[in-house]
Amino acid sequence: MQTASLSRRSFLRGGMRAVAPAVRPPWARAEAAFLAACTRCDACIDACPTAILLRADGGFPGVDFSAGAGECTFCGECVAHCEPQALVRSAEGGAPWALKAGVGRGCLAESGVECRVCGESCPVGAIRFRPRLGGVALPQLDADACTGCGACFAPCPTRAIAMTVDRVANEFPTESER
Ligand code: SF4
Ligand code: SF4
Ligand code: SF4
Repeated sequence: MQTASLSRRSFLRGGMRAVAPAVRPPWARAEAAFLAACTRCDACIDACPTAILLRADGGFPGVDFSAGAGECTFCGECVAHCEPQALVRSAEGGAPWALKAGVGRGCLAESGVECRVCGESCPVGAIRFRPRLGGVALPQLDADACTGCGACFAPCPTRAIAMTVDRVANEFPTESER
């Protein structure tokens, strides 16, 4: 299993001072091949219309869903501008990345406070709210439907959404991850 590229505490909350490796732009080659190919030219960063790509560790590009418009639209502009082909989209398409959202313990609804912001932010309807007798509706994330676009991350008022490559949807983070 791939190590989570995003650490909620060190990367998403702490900007680019990440100790964990950054999440690379969509359609990035596997990390070693990406690092070998990427010339740190910033072309992908400059091309991203939602401005979620920033210089990360060592000057290599990384994704920050708290930056810019906060979501990847999978427009492919970063790939199109990557001349060294550190980012490559095959003719068959293929998933841009293995990122998925997960809802963690800071969730207001889990604490009994009505909130559906993440569900309202999701462009593909991957977060639905499950009614509960005697309580507020709880978010339920469909991992298969989630594209990892990150649109639900920044709007969450408690930053309860985690974007990770190895987290099962709705699996709550451990205390050591907080
Ligand atoms: S696919 Fe488009 S929106 Fe997503 S990171 Fe690349 S340029 Fe930005
Ligand atoms: S466009 Fe390609 S080579 Fe240039 S910084 Fe981005 S990933 Fe690296
Ligand atoms: S990351 Fe997943 S759950 Fe969040 S808005 Fe994008 S598709 Fe929806």
